[in-house]
Formats: sequence, C-alpha cells, structure tokens
Amino acid sequence: MSDENSSGVRRVITGLGASGGVVIGRAFVLDRQIIQVNRKPISDDAVKAECKRLHEGVAESIDQLKRLKSQSSSAESAASEELGFLMDAYIHMLTQSRLVRGAEELIVSKKLNAVHAVSDVIDTIADQFSGMEDSYLAARATDIREVGLRLMRCLIGETDRAMDKAPKGSILIAEDVSPADMARFNPGQLTAFVTALGGAEGHTAIMARSLGIPAVLGAADIIRGVRGGDQIIVDGGRGEVIISPTGADIKHYTQRRADWLAARDKLASLRDVPSATRDGIDIDLHANIELPIELAAALENGASGIGLLRSEFMFMNKDYLPDEDEQYEELADIVKRMDGKPVTVRTLDIGGEKLAVALQGELGSGPNPALGLRGVRLSLRKTELFEAQFAAILRASLHGPVRVLIPMVVAVHEMTRARQIYETVAKRLRREGYPIPETLPPLGAMIEIPAAALAVDTLARDCDFFAIGTNDLTQYTLAIDRTDDQVAGMFDPLHPAVLRLIRNVIKVACERDIPVSVCGEMAGDPRYVPLFIGFGLRNLSMSPVNLLPVKQRLRRLDSRNSEQQAARVMEQWDSARIAMMLDDFNDLA
Ligand code: PEP
Ligand code: MG
Repeated sequence: MSDENSSGVRRVITGLGASGGVVIGRAFVLDRQIIQVNRKPISDDAVKAECKRLHEGVAESIDQLKRLKSQSSSAESAASEELGFLMDAYIHMLTQSRLVRGAEELIVSKKLNAVHAVSDVIDTIADQFSGMEDSYLAARATDIREVGLRLMRCLIGETDRAMDKAPKGSILIAEDVSPADMARFNPGQLTAFVTALGGAEGHTAIMARSLGIPAVLGAADIIRGVRGGDQIIVDGGRGEVIISPTGADIKHYTQRRADWLAARDKLASLRDVPSATRDGIDIDLHANIELPIELAAALENGASGIGLLRSEFMFMNKDYLPDEDEQYEELADIVKRMDGKPVTVRTLDIGGEKLAVALQGELGSGPNPALGLRGVRLSLRKTELFEAQFAAILRASLHGPVRVLIPMVVAVHEMTRARQIYETVAKRLRREGYPIPETLPPLGAMIEIPAAALAVDTLARDCDFFAIGTNDLTQYTLAIDRTDDQVAGMFDPLHPAVLRLIRNVIKVACERDIPVSVCGEMAGDPRYVPLFIGFGLRNLSMSPVNLLPVKQRLRRLDSRNSEQQAARVMEQWDSARIAMMLDDFNDLA
C-alpha cells in the first residue's frame, strides 16, 4: 500500500455495509510486503513450467489491478482518478516490462524459481531508480517494488501472516481480505475491517457477520485514504468510514456504539425462550459455522443445532490435505461440544471464491471457476478426498446426531454415486472395527443451483433431506457473481425467479415429507421470516449473530397471516415492491 495518505483532515469514505456495528479505533494498514523468498533452484526440466507459472502470476496481478481500477472508478473522487492512473501505470509495468522479461531470463539462464527471479529483478531495477537524482524517478523505485511484490504474492498464494502484527484493538485496512485471511482473523486483536474490494454476499462478509466484526467492503478510496495509526470510525451497518474524526463525531459515534451494544444485550434475553410463532408453531433455528471459533457464539445465541458446518475451514491455510484422522479430530470435537444437538456437516465445497492452496493444482484455472470443477463435482473426481471426508464424518457421528450434506448437486446420479461411496466407506470402517452407528446418518443435498431447485422432485429419489443455499441460488439464477463488487448491488434474493425456486423446493419437500431448511444468508435476515414461514418452512440456519434477531421476529408473527402475506408477495413482479411489502408486514406484526 502507498504511504501518501491522510493528513489529519476529516474525511468520510463510503463502501458496502457488510457487517453491522460501530467501532472507534486506530487503523492498521495491512502491509503484505514481507515475503519469504525460497531460493531453491529448479531443475532443467522445470524451466518451462516455471516460466508458465510466472506468466500466470502476471496475468493474475493484471487482473487484480484492473479490478482495483474499475472499483475506484465507481467512487467519485479526485483520489479515485489518481488511483486509476496509478493502476494503469502498474499494469503497464507488467505488460511491456523489463520486470517480466528479466525474471524470465533468470529462470532460463540461472534456473531460479519464479519468485526468486522476480525478487532479484525488482532489487536490480529499484536500485537503479532510487539512485537517480530526479526525485520523481527515484520515487518510481517504490512503484516497482509494489508491482513486484504483488506479482510475488500471486506466485506464492495466500501464505503471508502480516495480519498477525496488528496491535490489539486496531481496525484492519486492506486492499482485500480473503476467506482464508478471515480464518486467521483474531477478533480480540482486530475489532473491525475495511477493504477496497469485495461484495457484501461473499464469504469474507459472511464470516465477518458471523464473528460479529463490523466491516465495510468495496471502499475503493480507502487505499490511499488512511495511514497506519490514524484514528478512524467504522460504521459497518451504514458502510461508512470516518478518518480523523472531529470531537463531535467521536461523541455521536460513541453514543451509536453504546446503542448498538445495548440492542445486542437486549436480544440476549431471548436466548432461552422458545423459538415458536405466536400461534405455537415450533421453528428450528440452527447455526451456520464457518470456523470452530463460532461455535461458542452459536450456543450462546441459543442455536438448536448446526444446520451448515462448512468443512472448508479444515483445508484453508494449509499446504497439505488433512487426512481422515485429522478431519475426524476436528469434527468429533464440534459434535461433542454440541452435546446431543444435531450437526449437519457439508462435504468440501472448495472452488469458486473458496480456495485451498493444496488443491490449487486439482482445480486448475478454468475459464469460469464458479461454473467449474467445484463442490460435489470435485469430490466425485477426487474420490480419495471424498472417502476421507465421509470416513471422518461417520466416525464423528458416534459422538452425536450428524447429517451429511453434499454441495452443488444438480442431478440425482451425483447423489446416487455419492451414496455408493458413502456406503462403501461405512463398510470399510466396520471391517476395520470402527464403531459407527447402525443406521447411517442421513445424506442430503444443497439446493443451490436453479436446475436442482426446478427438478427437486427428481433429487427427492435419493436425498434424505434438502438444504436450500440461497446465496448460490441467487448468484446462479441471476448470473450475478456474489463476490464481484462491480455487480454486488444487483444481487437480489427477492427477485421473483429466486422466490419461485425457493417456494417450489419447500412445496415439493413438504409434499414428500422430506426435511428441508434454508441455510443461505437470506435465512438470517429477520425481514424475510414471514415469507419463509408462509411458504411452510420450519427450519432456518444462519450465522450465529442472526439467531436472536430472527427469533425475536418469528415470535411476533402468526403462521396463517404469514401464509397470506407470502401468497401476496408471490403475485408481485418487482423486487423493490416485494421489499416494501415485507417491511410493511414487519411493521404491522
Ligand atoms: C449458499 O450457497 O447459500 C450456501 C449456504 O453455501 P455457501 O455460501 O457456502 O456457498
Ligand atoms: Mg453455496
């Protein structure tokens, strides 16, 4: 990040309000400049592959810079124009450059690995620039380093640990925070974060909400707008960041923070009251868990089970694949801590935005990762991975009730094949003397692709339960990438097409007596509760922080009224109108 930053003058920067809450603190600007360069030479045979890796890293860096440029152009400010010019200059340095040519030469002639080669070339070029008399040209040394470091980061993957250096209580400012970064996020150390990139529906945002960390994403101007140590205020609900606040700001936001904390405490009193509608219909409120650290919050907020345990956490920030025993230990711990409450473990859903370093080779770089080898497709391709997961889950199921959930299913033959593997693994475990339950835990499918939602009756042939993933269902129905800040504003789960798909799945499931839940982000939005209850849904799974607001909402509503309200919503064709109607229902309740 650049050091031409704030000057103590009050500024307000806006972005997407990704996770609510107000925090006042000091900025910690994420400096990913420290890269451990592995200096091991490569063999003659590896030269071609290493050059290819270099060019892939260059392409990825250019792509990142273009995204930053485009994001900054949507913010109307002088700083964003300047940022756009800078990004162009950086892209130029990577397209016709001494940097790339020089690195390639070193790979070929000296057999350096790509990262080592880039590091040496940056040092040479930057030294030449910094020795120049002209102060403008001398400053270009910083730019070369910046571009080179970005390239090295792309070559290495997400392995740096710069975040760990933040002083306790600081607010993280970064160009981007990945889901893997979130897995290392320590809420005791970092109290909020602001990024230039990212959408409010991506996994970084989901994790922030579930950890209860206020966050503003997609705030392009933040890149050059703040300096480490600056005092800042983050209002995660409104998507606002105030840099160098005045005394009046501090007073105002201290009060807002107190209100936010008081509202949280008030909700806490609902923890042990039944989760039922006014007319006595019991509703199961389960928690979605991305990281084991969230388990405490799920229990504190009264979750009656885990409706979605995203098993990706076991694969993130590791450069190896965890084996059956390692996965078993992690899962068994969670099942035990839930103390008899059901745990729905989803098998690996790596791919798309969710990456695991150890699987990068498998995933390849298909033209469109969201439509590529991910979820069950990857598991069925790499069956040894699937088998290890099933075995770990089956062994963990001895410690409490478990369900097994398969992501990204589109056709019944995927479930049939998954079930065959599941049963074969169970037989193997029994043969080896592992005590697994007599009746195997239920095997169900995520319904998150429009094809699955439309043909859910065909999936019913081989599914013990369904979990509707509204995040991907919305993304794939509307063709809106949930993580792309440029189209984030168009991500619209209230689009009639999305609602019709959800209603269809619930209807078919109820007719056939197949348990069904909603576990996408929609489930955690109290405004949508009447709609789901009106559709006949009785199980919602959400980030732990949303459990109590949703419970508060559902305790005020009547299921028959909700049915009528849902029917009226389904007659609408405009999602803005639907949103207004839902607000009205909530006001009337
Ligand atoms: C979903 O797609 O709605 C879902 C719950 O899964 P994920 O967000 O992990 O893709
Ligand atoms: Mg999904």
